[in-house]
Amino acid sequence: MRIGFIGVGNMGGPMARNLVQGNYAVRAYDLDAERLAAAGAAGVATVPSALDAVQDADVVISMLPASRHVRQLYLDDGLLDALPPTAVAIDCSTIAPATARDVAARAAQRGIEMLDAPVSGGTAGAEQAKLTFMVGGDAATLARVRPVFERMGANIFHAGASGAGQTAKLCNNMLLAVQMTATAEALALGVANGLDAATLSEIMRASSGGNWPLNVYNPWPGVMEGVPAARGYQGGFAVDLMLKDLNLAVDAAADAGTPTALGALARNLFAMHRRQNDAGALDFSSILRLVAPETEAR
Ligand code: NAD
Repeated sequence: MRIGFIGVGNMGGPMARNLVQGNYAVRAYDLDAERLAAAGAAGVATVPSALDAVQDADVVISMLPASRHVRQLYLDDGLLDALPPTAVAIDCSTIAPATARDVAARAAQRGIEMLDAPVSGGTAGAEQAKLTFMVGGDAATLARVRPVFERMGANIFHAGASGAGQTAKLCNNMLLAVQMTATAEALALGVANGLDAATLSEIMRASSGGNWPLNVYNPWPGVMEGVPAARGYQGGFAVDLMLKDLNLAVDAAADAGTPTALGALARNLFAMHRRQNDAGALDFSSILRLVAPETEAR
């Protein structure tokens, strides 16, 4: 099976590598020459344009930053027109559900089946092929390309019709942002009252406040090794990307008339953090710097 892979950044790079290791014939393209060269150095065949990547492809996978990049690639740059009509297009970027539905409808007009398949699991999940995929679109199409997903992830869910994968992703990331902020706040409260951050983390992990950040992504520097908090919040999942997802969640809530009080608050806290601490490129667990600015001086 021939796969065109567009966007080999923090997530797409390791995903494309895992496909090559699974003996798929991958041709990759990225606008950023450095990232493309890094993919080449890791053993992925690279080509000079997106249209070259999808020529005669059975599957195209895109992993781009946001809605506008997905529109640009598939519609404005003519990728849909260049794809063979038998191809399946899989967009793994986190984007607005409405954009996913719109691009999939345009693909369908050309007879091309398209799935929205955003992921969870971070860069470590991408490296280790342990991502969770949340897939929207036709179930029979997903069944056809399931082996491709299985080379990149450990959990593959069919969330529902076109756009449903994106909706599931927004719900998950809104919950994650709230959990991370609340975890940072609880740790700051404990430490300000004389507790040790690592001891308090252990206690809460084993208690009713236990959650994903406490288990694998502790925001307090020095509590856990190998997490962004252990390296000045470099790498990981950028505040800019989390803020994008929170904005999408707030927009989706407005469209549906759903109250998401904590999601909207988290959105505002991350926007304040980004501006006050110039934190757009830092990992999102750096929200600790907003709730406990004195932390790293302790
Ligand atoms: P990234 O910025 O590292 O990678 C995106 C890549 O797309 C870049 O290399 C960029 O040059 C390239 N690109 C943009 N437009 C392009 C175009 N038209 N043609 C070719 N290449 C193009 O971002 P990332 O961290 O890999 O995230 C990608 C997506 O995955 C985002 O939607 C993000 O929200 C989502 N996501 C990220 C994480 C994470 O932990 N980083 C986790 C889950 C989901």
